[in-house]
Amino acid sequence: MATTERGIPEGATCIGPDQGPGYGSLDVFPPAEPIRAEWVGRRRNDPVRTQMHYARRGDVTEEMWVAARREGLEPTFVRDEVARGRMIIPANVAHRNLVPLAIGIHARCKINANIGNSAVTSDVEGELEKLRRCIKYKADTVMDLSTGGGIDEIRAAIVERSPVPIGTVPIYQAIQEVPRLEDLTADLLLSNIRRQAEQGVDYMTVHCGVRREHLPLVESRITGIVSRGGSLMAQWMLTHGRENPLYESYDEILEICREYDVSLSLGDGLRPGCLHDASDEAQFAELEVLGELTRRAWERDVQVMVEGPGHVPLDQIPMNVRRQIEVCDEAPFYVLGPIVTDVAPGYDHITSAIGASVAAQHGAAMLCYVTPKEHLGLPNADDVHQGIIAYRIAAHAADVARGRPGAREWDDAISRARYAFDWNEQFALSMDPDTARAMHDEELPHEAFKTAEFCSMCGPKFCSMRISQAVDDYNAARKAGGIGGTGPTTREE
Ligand code: SF4
Repeated sequence: MATTERGIPEGATCIGPDQGPGYGSLDVFPPAEPIRAEWVGRRRNDPVRTQMHYARRGDVTEEMWVAARREGLEPTFVRDEVARGRMIIPANVAHRNLVPLAIGIHARCKINANIGNSAVTSDVEGELEKLRRCIKYKADTVMDLSTGGGIDEIRAAIVERSPVPIGTVPIYQAIQEVPRLEDLTADLLLSNIRRQAEQGVDYMTVHCGVRREHLPLVESRITGIVSRGGSLMAQWMLTHGRENPLYESYDEILEICREYDVSLSLGDGLRPGCLHDASDEAQFAELEVLGELTRRAWERDVQVMVEGPGHVPLDQIPMNVRRQIEVCDEAPFYVLGPIVTDVAPGYDHITSAIGASVAAQHGAAMLCYVTPKEHLGLPNADDVHQGIIAYRIAAHAADVARGRPGAREWDDAISRARYAFDWNEQFALSMDPDTARAMHDEELPHEAFKTAEFCSMCGPKFCSMRISQAVDDYNAARKAGGIGGTGPTTREE
């Protein structure tokens, strides 16, 4: 395969600013040429076109190749992980502008940001602006959770322009199409899933795991069923006295996913909504079903990841991750938070980023962001910004702890720039360069201060990093044999 100097297949020209040394992010907006159309076009006569199918056949697809290069992994390793089900590459065959990426325990921890309109705010341009911000702040995937009007038009525009995988929760749109929840049918759900698959959605959350027999298990909870999809399915089952239609239609859902290579994100409809409800019987009963559904998806070569809680005390997070990995045979774990204390509304990007980092350290593959508005209202652009950065910090901290290729190098590079008082380099290497620069310049805006050996925190006289350089001079001289054992001298002020 012909490659560019960055090791990307010829034609895959989506090169943007790196996330840090060693990462080689390919995210761009607007997207480059739709090179995937050519890749997928070559496979048009294949009876099955999922990445899992090709991986099990022994093929390394272009998608695997690009995803591997973005991770610093061998393409054959990515292929083997996809074949095993331990890694997914969400890549709908109809998503032409996608720059493929891998989600799994052996890949860099990913983060998802949510966008989408509501019944009161709705337009294509507004949603594209949110997508633009998600790309700018480097969310790895974006979920369109639109529940208002014009959903098809908005989603088509998002998929067409997005270089990152797009996820949805199809039941939200299905609910919009019926006057009352009880009018919802399996056929309507399936037609929504198919329509979204045709549009190019890369992964879909389906709440197939909530079953009728689980409903009595939430009796002793404080906050009941907090997942929107889970609560809707529960109400439907109660109204009709029947089993969850998404569970009963699972084989048909798999056929659609197999046709378009839609990855399934098995929703945790019974996730706990507060610390009191964490790790209870209802949560784990659903998890067992998710394990069964994972294996059924793999039988059809459908890629799958499994969603997880929610609100969990810090000490229970490692057990929760281990249990999911065990029950779901190591399918990638996609966690929402988890929030580790319920008492800080307005700051749940922080309460959840703490839990997310611990979950990622113990094996979660992707983190769904939480914004400061969680539990309080619809996030605005600033909330989205705060949520994404909080989650990139959580994911990166876990990547460092797990020794991911390139992760620690980023920290070391910014530390060297900091110690060298190379302020511009420090800003450039920051996770959020604009904010870092703005904070520095608040007190010392003049360009001359971009090489100053201090900042406004300690001032020139007490800047410990400047003072510490006298120790460096001493050690350098000692190493060169110029100094005996008299200890360091202080630099001239
Ligand atoms: S003045 Fe203080 S905070 Fe600023 S660079 Fe020096 S040691 Fe760091």
